[in-house]
Amino acid sequence: MSSRGPQDDAFAEVKAKVDLVKVVSEHVRLTKRNKDLWGLCPFHQEDSPSFKVDPQRQSWYCFGCERHGDVFTFVELIEKTDKRGALQLLAERAGVELQKLSPEQKERTDSRRRLLAMLKLAAQYYEYVLWSSPAGEPGRRLLLQRQVSEETARRFQLGYAPAGRGFAEYLRAKKRSLADAQAAGLMRRDGADFFAERLVIPIRDERSQPLAFTARTVRADEQRKYINSPETPAYVKGRVIFGLDLARDEITRRGQAVLMEGQFDVITAHQFGVGNAVASSGTALTEDQVRLLKRFTDELLVVFDADRAGRAAAEKASKLAAFHDMRVRVADIPDGKDPDEFLRGAGPQAVERWEALTATAAPSLEFGMEARVEGLNLSNANHVEVAAARIRELILEYPEHLWEPYRERAERWLGVPFQLRGARGNGPVRPQTPKPAQTNGLDARIVGKKLTVGRYLLQLLAVNPAAFERIRTKITPDELDEEDRAMYARMLETYGRGGASGLENELGEYPAEEQDLIRRAWAAPPPSVDDRLAEELVARIRLDRMKVRHSGIIRELSEAERGREAERVARLEAEASELARAINDMERSR
Ligand SMILES: [Zn+2]
Repeated sequence: MSSRGPQDDAFAEVKAKVDLVKVVSEHVRLTKRNKDLWGLCPFHQEDSPSFKVDPQRQSWYCFGCERHGDVFTFVELIEKTDKRGALQLLAERAGVELQKLSPEQKERTDSRRRLLAMLKLAAQYYEYVLWSSPAGEPGRRLLLQRQVSEETARRFQLGYAPAGRGFAEYLRAKKRSLADAQAAGLMRRDGADFFAERLVIPIRDERSQPLAFTARTVRADEQRKYINSPETPAYVKGRVIFGLDLARDEITRRGQAVLMEGQFDVITAHQFGVGNAVASSGTALTEDQVRLLKRFTDELLVVFDADRAGRAAAEKASKLAAFHDMRVRVADIPDGKDPDEFLRGAGPQAVERWEALTATAAPSLEFGMEARVEGLNLSNANHVEVAAARIRELILEYPEHLWEPYRERAERWLGVPFQLRGARGNGPVRPQTPKPAQTNGLDARIVGKKLTVGRYLLQLLAVNPAAFERIRTKITPDELDEEDRAMYARMLETYGRGGASGLENELGEYPAEEQDLIRRAWAAPPPSVDDRLAEELVARIRLDRMKVRHSGIIRELSEAERGREAERVARLEAEASELARAINDMERSR
């Protein structure tokens, strides 16, 4: 059954033709030590090199974050793409034709490539018209009205499609095929521009390649405000996240993506400094889109229109993201506005008001509960029963491992005890047991992501003060990373003084950033907060420190070698191998 497909051959062929060292060198400065090359790991923050490339085996390993792999894995991580994307990039580089597979496949790729080239050309043409041609005037006026600056517009590569057959003429002048433009959904059969008299917004993939367009009319008498490109071999709606190419770095930096409904919401958001905003682009959020977002963050802030449809869509998106282990909060914009109106209305206070709005965003469960009790009178026992029944239904729509924590939260929120059992008439809900898989999932979430182990521990302690008793003797503040140290010490004092409720009373005296971290943990607790996990995190922090020390020694070692200090080399080598053994032991016992 394990016949090797053409894909496997392509991987092997590409791997044979590219050199890992060359590929890595474009991103990391490597220095040679013995037969290996060392550099600063591009996947985690570090000051001394623990990232090692083995040219013989064509493999790499980081002693700091433990990421490792071959040239495909490296490109996957550094370009934030998937396996197929890495293959494509490397194949192009190596000059390997991926599609000498079958004639049909080749035909499909060729036509896709032509479509993409055509879409790129169209985007350039529209952008040129918008800024450099008198015909672009209506588009410029619309942008002015919407308070979108030229700088922002250019980042999104906005354009304008003039009335008539301008694009067809342009293509003829460039001796390009009109058929491709028609296939790309840019042009009608008679050569008339599909987007005529519209501001054109390219929908680009996460590497800024235009895949399609959405276009807003500039005419007051036009019924259809927006029209969109059809799906083509180059464009599948449910697979693209609008704005991701511009937002990806900011998403990683802030540890959160802001999901909006409309493309214009996103453009306005970026204009007003919300650089991590993206949109699901013309569909309800899909599995593919969630997976795409997951490459960049584990946390989603949903900001949809405040109307009924928007709320329903927000809830749906939240549940889907929850099934992919994302933490989701939902921001409710006041006065029934959409994000675009809200930001423009706030004017110079946009950033401030946006921060306030997102700081109070409710975890998705609370958002759903609010909606469920609307119109009910919760001082009436019958109504409470109705509310409990609705909330039960709501909770059961989330992944099973969230049922019990959600039940507890709902109980607190509603102020009456209630059970999930029997809600669907199919017997009692399974008793809650700690899931062994959970820690693995946790690991995957923490490793190298912006939520560091230390931060996780602090959040856990904020949510579960009882865990402190078990932790305080196991780790001292100076064993933590520098940025977490002060906060841990402060919490230690607070709990010592005021017991479990101390934090709530003293929070006001904490630095703003720490307050924020704690409030966020309260609003959206990390996925698991039990004592056992707390101990594991502590072990993890210790382990990480040992690894940092290990890479420090390795660095020192290369210095000593360069200076031919034989004695120092021997001592450091002994130290390094002892430490490596200890790390190994510790890892095996976990
Ligand atoms: Zn690393």
